[in-house]
Amino acid sequence: MATRSVAGEAREIELASQMIHLGARLQVLQAETGLSYDRLSRLYREIKGCSPPKGMLPFSVDWFMTWLPNIHSTMFYSIYRYVDQHTTAKGARALVEAYKLYLEQSSAGRPEHTDAEPVLSFTRAWMLVRFFDGGLLQMSNCARCDGSFVAHAHDPKGSYVCAICKPPPRAGKTRASKKSSSAQI
Ligand SMILES: [Zn+2]
Repeated sequence: MATRSVAGEAREIELASQMIHLGARLQVLQAETGLSYDRLSRLYREIKGCSPPKGMLPFSVDWFMTWLPNIHSTMFYSIYRYVDQHTTAKGARALVEAYKLYLEQSSAGRPEHTDAEPVLSFTRAWMLVRFFDGGLLQMSNCARCDGSFVAHAHDPKGSYVCAICKPPPRAGKTRASKKSSSAQI
């Protein structure tokens, strides 16, 4: 860190600025750059015009499994993997490029919603990649439609069914019909 060049630091500030514009939390900037907390929070205030939000990052693997987040996470991660493997952008830069493409894709065809909050925030996208790197998540093929989706790692192979194919839970309905049939007896 002590030997970091001025040009290197300029590149990190530029990267951090891009991430702030995309909605990154301060913890993400700290993890992805070598810049100090003070510099990062000053940069954040300059760009956003307010102090960075405090508190913990959303830490839930299960959030990525609920159906709409799962579809968006799957779309993002497919783009990220492509950018990481087929372009010169790596690490945080691949994340930034993939996230920009995700924003374009998720708002394509409905320009009136471009100002709406994206389903997958930049910070969530960053966590998603960390969960993959940490071996908590994997891409699994759906046993019904054969599409590839974000799923828990170590799920038994061949039995995974995606969020689109899985019918909604009918527990309430089943209980109600059981009740009415037992009332008849
Ligand atoms: Zn499916």
